[in-house]
Amino acid sequence: MDDYALVLNAGSSSLKFCVFRRPRTGSWQLEARGQIDGIGTAPHLSAKDGHGAILTETKLEDSVCDGRAAIDALASWLRWKFGKARVVGVGHRVVHGGARYDRPVLITRDVLADLYQLIPLAPLHQPYNLAAIDRISERMPDVSQVACFDTSFHQTHNAVTKLVPLPKEVRKSGVQRYGFHGLSYEYIASVLPDVAPEIARDRVIVAHLGSGASLCALENGISVDSTLGFTALDGLCMGTRPGALDPGVVLYLYQGLGLSAKEIETILYKKSGLLGISEISNDMRQLLVSDAPEAKLAIDYFVYRATKEIGALAAVLGGVDGLVFTAGIGENSPEIRKRICEASAWLGVQLDTEANLKNASRISTRQSKVSTWIIPTNEELMIARHTGALLGLLQAVA
Ligand code: AMP
Repeated sequence: MDDYALVLNAGSSSLKFCVFRRPRTGSWQLEARGQIDGIGTAPHLSAKDGHGAILTETKLEDSVCDGRAAIDALASWLRWKFGKARVVGVGHRVVHGGARYDRPVLITRDVLADLYQLIPLAPLHQPYNLAAIDRISERMPDVSQVACFDTSFHQTHNAVTKLVPLPKEVRKSGVQRYGFHGLSYEYIASVLPDVAPEIARDRVIVAHLGSGASLCALENGISVDSTLGFTALDGLCMGTRPGALDPGVVLYLYQGLGLSAKEIETILYKKSGLLGISEISNDMRQLLVSDAPEAKLAIDYFVYRATKEIGALAAVLGGVDGLVFTAGIGENSPEIRKRICEASAWLGVQLDTEANLKNASRISTRQSKVSTWIIPTNEELMIARHTGALLGLLQAVA
């Protein structure tokens, strides 16, 4: 029987997955990449094979209403598609590793208990990541599982960058800047030497612009700063999160408006950002085609924050040689890239309009002081590499 390994990225309403297979003789190969989305609303499974051909597009039963049911639905599909398979390892994306987990780790009961403690620091993601681990443990108790953290890549930040300037007593409880989207940035840093060798060893700002959005300052491929901090709320304007906020606003919501901590959490994680400003959508595509002034305001604010933070990270780096766009908006929206690049012209960013419109790889002119690129991210591949390295399994994953 062939060996299989899974990569899971479990969110609140989606479960992204990759399936790797190792034939009896041969190396690991990507067999399927897909997702179950609309969990709890209109569940739907889609998957492609390793070459991008569609394997399935299926509406799922309404009973797929949470992460556990999604894992069960995925297991049924895998059995139907691949027959009785021997799963030898599962790698998970886990958003928060806290101060303790500075690298991927084999999941044990103790590790899992630690990770549950971090739920208040990432309430939008961590519970769903951990629920997937729990369900796999129940279904396949003998299979090794690995947690790969979005925070680990930023452990290289220096003491000043990590600091949250509150009293020591508070900081002792783990209040510091961690940074997120680390698996995405680690992937980009890993491919820079091949894709954009001219900037790989220099000062690069990577803009991960998706539903969640942040920037990372890289120096020679190492993370030196990032716009996300203690939680995934800081920095840029996001789909439903506000980004950087005067902490006095939170105090006012609590003391002035009398909202509960839970209500404030819901506002900050689910009702703010592009959605809160526009009251139309958290989806950039919908805002870009809308004529509503509120949609325009939301886009203006998104671009303003991104541009402002690019300036801040350029100051941290003492200049910038490269700019990389990635994730849903960064990879697919010429309009947003154009606006951010034009607003960053003072840094020496000179956009090649044609290349940008074509979503080409290099999108700056030859004369541009800042070499500017689109590089599709691949967090799942990064998880597969880590899982393989840790379990000694997926050595041949490219
Ligand atoms: P992600 O979280 O990386 O999957 O990115 C999701 C975000 O990317 C959503 O706001 C989408 O609207 C946005 N997105 C995807 N494709 C496009 C596109 N062609 N133009 C603008 N935004 C896009």
